Amino acid sequence: METVSTLRIAIQKSGRLTEKTITLLENIGLKFDGYKNRLLVKALNFDVELLLIRDDDIPEYVQDGICDLGVVGANVTRENGADVTVLRDLDFGHCRLSLAVPKSSGITRVEDLAGKRIATSYPNLTRRYFKDRGLDVKPVKISGAVEITPRLDVADAICDLVSTGGTLKTNGLTELQPILHSQSQLVRTNRELPAHKKELIDKFLVRIEGQQLAENSRYIMMNAPKDALEKIVDIIPSLNSPTVLPLADTNMIAVHTVIPISKFWEVMEELKEAGAEGIVMLPIQNMIN
Ligand code: ATP
Ligand code: ZN
Repeated sequence: METVSTLRIAIQKSGRLTEKTITLLENIGLKFDGYKNRLLVKALNFDVELLLIRDDDIPEYVQDGICDLGVVGANVTRENGADVTVLRDLDFGHCRLSLAVPKSSGITRVEDLAGKRIATSYPNLTRRYFKDRGLDVKPVKISGAVEITPRLDVADAICDLVSTGGTLKTNGLTELQPILHSQSQLVRTNRELPAHKKELIDKFLVRIEGQQLAENSRYIMMNAPKDALEKIVDIIPSLNSPTVLPLADTNMIAVHTVIPISKFWEVMEELKEAGAEGIVMLPIQNMIN
C-alpha cells in the first residue's frame, strides 16, 4: 500500500520573502501556529508542512524532491539552473538584477564592460547576459555587500539586486542596465507525485488564482438616476452584469459591480460624468469565478 506522505513546501527561513509567503499561505486557507525559529512547521488543518531554509537552497530541494513545492525568487531559481516547474508568479518580492558602475567611471554602455571584473552573487546569469551579446567579462563571485567592491578595487562594476536603487546611490553607483526582472514564484518538483499531492496542489492553485484576482479587483457601489443606467452599464468593464438595486427615491438606483483595479480612476471619472454619485470602492477578500 502506498504511504500517504505530507506535502512539503520549502520557504525562506528569515528574510524578505518570509512574511509575505506565510501571508499568502494563510490567505489560501492554511493555518500554522508560529513559524519563527523553526525548521519544520506542520499546518494545523491540511496534510502540509513547511520546511524553512535559506532561499538559495530552495530550488535544489525542490528539484531533488525533498520538497514538493517551493516559494522563491526567480533570480535564485534562474541562477541555480534547477530543474523545476514554475507554477505561478506570486507578485511579491519584485526586484531586478542590474549592472551598475561607479559614477566616476564614465562607463555608459554595456559594451564598455567587455573584459572588466564584475562583482556579483549571480555569476551564471551575469556571464550568460554578456555571452548572449558576444562579450566576455570576468565575474567575481561575492556573497554579500557587493556594492562596496568597486571602491575596494575588487571589481570595476557590479551586478546586483535592486528594488529602489537607494543602496546604489549611497555607494556612488549608477544603474547601467537591468539584466533580469524578478519576483517570487511558486515552483514544483518535476518528480512524479502521488495523486493526493497533485490534488492538493491543484486545489491551492485555484485558491491562489482567486486570491490574485481579488487583489487586483475592487467592489464598487454608486447611486445614479434611473435613466443613466444604460450609460453606466456601458462604462463598467466588468465581465458579469452589475447588480441594480432600488432606492427609497424612486428616480434613483444603486449599482454594484466588480472591476479591475487598474481601471478604477478612468472608470470613476466616466461614471461621474454619466451622473453617478457617492461612488464607493471596497477591497475584496477573495473571489471564486
Ligand atoms: P537567505 O538568508 O535566505 O539566503 P538572502 O539574504 O539571500 O537570505 P533576502 O535579502 O532576504 O535574501 O532576499 C530574498 C529575496 O528577496 C531575493 O532573492 C529577491 O528575490 C527578493 N528581493 C526583493 N527585493 C530585493 C532587494 N532590494 N534586494 C535583495 N533581494 C530582493
Ligand atoms: Zn540567499
